[in-house]
Amino acid sequence: MFNTACDDFAPLGSGTMLQVTPVRAFSDNYIWLIHSPRNPASVVVVDPGDAAPVERTLNEQGLKLAGVLITHHHPDHVGGVSALLQRRQAPVFGPAGERVPGEPTKLREGDEANLPALGLSFRVLDVPGHTAGHIAYVGHGAVFCGDTLFSGGCGRLFEGTPEQMSASLGKLAGLGDDTQVYCAHEYTVSNLRFALAVEPDNADTANYLEECRARRARDEATVPSVIRRERNVNPFLRCDRETVKQAAEARAGRRLQNQPEVFAVIRQWKDAFRG
Ligand SMILES: [Zn+2]
Repeated sequence: MFNTACDDFAPLGSGTMLQVTPVRAFSDNYIWLIHSPRNPASVVVVDPGDAAPVERTLNEQGLKLAGVLITHHHPDHVGGVSALLQRRQAPVFGPAGERVPGEPTKLREGDEANLPALGLSFRVLDVPGHTAGHIAYVGHGAVFCGDTLFSGGCGRLFEGTPEQMSASLGKLAGLGDDTQVYCAHEYTVSNLRFALAVEPDNADTANYLEECRARRARDEATVPSVIRRERNVNPFLRCDRETVKQAAEARAGRRLQNQPEVFAVIRQWKDAFRG
């Protein structure tokens, strides 16, 4: 375990709080533990790419694993599922359109991941783009969005089109202002450096970058973020803004007709960004 930035707790909407804690894995992954509001010693794990740090945290803190949520099939998100299930039984939920371990209940948009004994329920959004079948889990004032939305950025397009990813990010941007954004990687500082290349005059981005640099210097996580902030700083959620459109057109050397075209240009720009 390590220090989290500030918001370990996300509002449930009824005065109670959803407790979510990170487990650090690999070089920059976050595996999230969602604590049951009914029994905080029971947790649901999101995208356990590596079993070892999850096992260590469960043992150290006397926690019981009571469920697994999977957003997409990449190994750094599912690599620990089988090992975790060798020793215990827990329901697994995953995307309907992808092959993932653990014989999950297969979910698509409109479905819910229900864990009634834990007092937890999440609705599912289809958010294709990073992978073809990527899903996100929304509930209790939080979204678990895997590699679709990052703080200040978004996932690479490995299997989907710019049109798909643009629409997926639009769904996430449309969640409530105060929705806590639990993404799966600590990419915020490099994302914000790119965001400032796109919008050099965005004071919100400049201020947030300084805040995140200070947090990282203290070895603190910069996530969860919150949707309101992402709408203000994340260029991939701002493809409708004139500043972002003009920067993309300057980069592309041509007029861009719509948001997916703007998105496609800044996504390619980010892929090549070394600044
Ligand atoms: Zn991924």
